[in-house]
Amino acid sequence: MTERRLQEVRRRLSELRLHAIVVTSLPNVRYLTGFTGSHATCVITGSNQFFFSDGRYREQALQEVQGFRVVISSGSLFEAMHKKRVLNRNERVGIESQHLSVSGFDALHKLFSKTKLVPTLSLVEEIAAVKDNHEIEAIKTAVAVSDKVFARVVKIVRDGVRESDVASEITYLHRSFGADADAFEPIVASGVRGALPHARASHKAIRSGEMVTLDFGCRVLGYHSDLTRTISVGKPSAEMKKVYDVVREAQQKAIASARGGMRAKSLDSVARKHIVARGYGKHFTHSLGHGLGHEIHELPRLSRLSKDVLKEYNVVTIEPGIYIPGVGGVRIEDDVVIRNGSCEVLTKSPKDLLIV
Ligand code: ZN
Ligand code: ZN
Repeated sequence: MTERRLQEVRRRLSELRLHAIVVTSLPNVRYLTGFTGSHATCVITGSNQFFFSDGRYREQALQEVQGFRVVISSGSLFEAMHKKRVLNRNERVGIESQHLSVSGFDALHKLFSKTKLVPTLSLVEEIAAVKDNHEIEAIKTAVAVSDKVFARVVKIVRDGVRESDVASEITYLHRSFGADADAFEPIVASGVRGALPHARASHKAIRSGEMVTLDFGCRVLGYHSDLTRTISVGKPSAEMKKVYDVVREAQQKAIASARGGMRAKSLDSVARKHIVARGYGKHFTHSLGHGLGHEIHELPRLSRLSKDVLKEYNVVTIEPGIYIPGVGGVRIEDDVVIRNGSCEVLTKSPKDLLIV
């Protein structure tokens, strides 16, 4: 597994005429080395790979990190890199420009003043966007847990129950069904609060006649799920019922047209055009979705401005929404795998409007 990932990194290095890359993003270090601790960096050169961490992680690194030269340092990891002479003078060495801090860059530059540090963008992230079967299985496991949580948690959504109680229940159920953690703080947004796409669960009590948007996910074996359903407590208003139908149709259209080779922005526009045609265009205020994997937000980006192209074995979310200030909101989100010329929906929670 590590082997294929390193091969891909080296292929990218040679395309960019780089001798090596210093990987400082912890999720990227984890993706390449398997290390799950909280302090490490790694260096991939044309012919070798080094892993650096500190004494707290000696045992863990020896267990988790295979195929790398593991260096445990008592000081700064960059100083350890310097001592081991992993980078040479006059070489072009990639750094992760989105992740290396200014002070980190200064420290690196000082230690390797004769090395040319070259900013790279999403080098590891682009590799990670294409999943292998093991990763897809891990995501499916996380998705199955969240589907089970949805089936259970809707039973407690009633008039008078607070959003925060529902959020706590989601967290509890994720753990009890085997997840390692929530993927993010669960979103529970009822009534007019549903118009805030990323509302935190508040202490507001849910009331009859309100729609409730539940957006949550979990992590299993290092991989994530991300699921949104909007349900109605009691009979919804005619307006919100219509909004629900429009979001659902837009989502269905996007799912039906998603395939490898398609521009991500074209997929966004499939859903957006439908919502615009039904008169809600200005209320679809975010992008259609995002890649999903060892991080909750990965490449490709499914937005109007995205330059990404969907690839076979991308795992992405498809999550259109309509948010009407002072009225409410609806979002429906599925996790899908792009493969075999179409897209396979992993999330199985029902999408007919559920009235509890
Ligand atoms: Zn979500
Ligand atoms: Zn999402």
